[in-house]
Amino acid sequence: MEEREYTHEEVARLIRRSGLRATLQRTALLKIILNSKRHPTAEMLMKKIKEQGLHLSMGTIYNTLECFEKHHLIIRVHDENDVMRYDGNTDFHIHLVDHNHISDLFDRELEDLIRKKLADKLPQDMQSARIEVTLYK
Ligand SMILES: [Zn+2]
Repeated sequence: MEEREYTHEEVARLIRRSGLRATLQRTALLKIILNSKRHPTAEMLMKKIKEQGLHLSMGTIYNTLECFEKHHLIIRVHDENDVMRYDGNTDFHIHLVDHNHISDLFDRELEDLIRKKLADKLPQDMQSARIEVTLYK
């Protein structure tokens, strides 16, 4: 688990590597997500963006998040109230949902275990599908 903060340049590089142009808005938004351990909602992101003196409409934020998701830069998680939350850690990990608080649990072996267990049962095109494990209190 990375504890240090991502720099603007590192985030811009990640965006470019995913095939997108690293605009100021995209970089600012992804940097907030990557440096947050709280799985922010779009509203939380909007607030942070404003604090940084940037102007992005809610529609632009949602479009950018959708774009990030398509390019595998972030994943979505639902909290208990079915509110969409965003996560910059796209490596396999377990989400523990306690009302509107989501924490991460890391277990490298669990993903392998699930894949091995399901290998014979899964259709070919689902073999490398992303596995999501979310526990709701
Ligand atoms: Zn997470």
